[in-house]
Amino acid sequence: MTNIEDVKLYINGEFVNAASGKTFENLNPFTNSVINQIAEGDKADIEAAAKAAKSAFHGEWGKLKVNDRLNYIYKIADLIDEHIEEIAPLESLDTGLPISQTKNMVKRAAQNFRFYAQMVSTSLVGEAYKVDDDFLNYTIHKPIGVAGLITPWNAPFMLETWKIAPALATGNTVVLKPGEWSPLTANRLAEIIDKADLPKGVFNVVHGFGETAGASLVAHPDVKLISFTGETTTGSEIIKNGADDLKRVSAELGGKSPFIVFDDANFDRALDACTWGIFSFNGERCTANSRLFIHESIYDEFVSALKERIENIVVGDPMDGKTELGPLIHIEHFNNVKRYLEIAREEGAEVFSGHVPEQFQKGNYIPPTLLLNVTNDMRVAQEEIFGPVMTVMTFKDEEEVIQLANDVRYGLAGYVWTNDIQRGHRVAQAVDSGMLWINSQNVRDLRIPFGGSKHSGMGREGGHYAFEFYTETQVIHVALGDHHIPQFGKK
Ligand code: NAD
Repeated sequence: MTNIEDVKLYINGEFVNAASGKTFENLNPFTNSVINQIAEGDKADIEAAAKAAKSAFHGEWGKLKVNDRLNYIYKIADLIDEHIEEIAPLESLDTGLPISQTKNMVKRAAQNFRFYAQMVSTSLVGEAYKVDDDFLNYTIHKPIGVAGLITPWNAPFMLETWKIAPALATGNTVVLKPGEWSPLTANRLAEIIDKADLPKGVFNVVHGFGETAGASLVAHPDVKLISFTGETTTGSEIIKNGADDLKRVSAELGGKSPFIVFDDANFDRALDACTWGIFSFNGERCTANSRLFIHESIYDEFVSALKERIENIVVGDPMDGKTELGPLIHIEHFNNVKRYLEIAREEGAEVFSGHVPEQFQKGNYIPPTLLLNVTNDMRVAQEEIFGPVMTVMTFKDEEEVIQLANDVRYGLAGYVWTNDIQRGHRVAQAVDSGMLWINSQNVRDLRIPFGGSKHSGMGREGGHYAFEFYTETQVIHVALGDHHIPQFGKK
């Protein structure tokens, strides 16, 4: 893929340079060469975008009939579908994610728009309470205003659309601040939305860094809510910074999710799910099963099967359809993950890695890796590594594995493999996580809530849970007759 144009900000329906004129380099994770320059937005550009979004909210967008609004959302979905073959390679180029995986993510992005358009027309309904003969009370859901969406670099297109779709479908306007290492598909989305001819200012994209563009979005008084996905420390800072003007914040944060295999589990299926769950998306996945717990009676057999898989994982060019594992997003992240492999050795763990073919050494490749001889107090067992690296531990019984699984600050996802239906549910309910899959990998139905507990997040996205977040519920009380009203001061 050649000749990728430089990326501008998208504000009030126009592609513009940053007010400061500054740009930053966007790197190709496969070669570490520069792909293009990205406009570096900051406070001034956030000001302009928030102003445009506020005016669209009070103007044309806010006055549209719901069906007319939803027609725009369907149009965006159709345009994404039409461009899958072009958006997926762009995502792979920018992030290093294998093309076979980005194609599915782009399909999913289109579904996000279609799903929320349908959901708003069928399920965004109020409730009515007829208290007695004198009163009727009912609720309506109103859009809140300007939504600030701050997203990370992993699975960017899918995660961005997962927020943009419900925000727009429920009638808000949007300022998106995408991850600075993954700007290309956010820009492509702006082009698509521009083509869909949404009223000016409804959707805006301000590229730039977290401490400047991101922080200004959080601080802006006209931005009524922030939907954030990213690291736990950033999430906690955003929650604090939004507190002064009581900003509504949802935070989808880091994870260190356990994958528990009992001795009666379907061995081959558990192996498939475990391998996919940690090594897909290059291991840069919030719900990755980065901590494996294997029952002691099948430990040796499971580990040796895993090692064989690791030896055979196809590490390669993200643009090659056969590649299963590509390079990590950025040299800085690559160095962080590499450092964790050193930490593992310093802490006394055994590091077992697959291979990166010689010709790919220029890229940010970390081979698929198991960390063995790990104890739960090690940093590598407690901290989110966010790469193709999984700690492996053993357990003797249910009680022990629940204790180990919960002994971590994160609580995003979890996976339990057993053919004992009672144990499956018991363990699932005892693990402190927002989501838990029994005998399954990370399959997500858009209707169900998505989110984490403990340090993995605050609030839920997905299905009607998104309505709670993106709308204000107002209750209207109506008197049906002349009920008694106390007559203060009447002579
Ligand atoms: P990050 O927190 O560094 O950055 C995320 C976004 O926040 C970026 O756009 C960044 O520019 C912005 N940002 C940074 N500092 C900010 C500030 N002070 N104010 C406002 N915005 C700021 O995260 P990342 O490294 O891009 O993403 C990886 C992390 O995201 C991992 O921890 C991963 O687990 C998490 N994640 C969670 C989920 C989930 O649903 N729970 C999904 C995907 C990724």
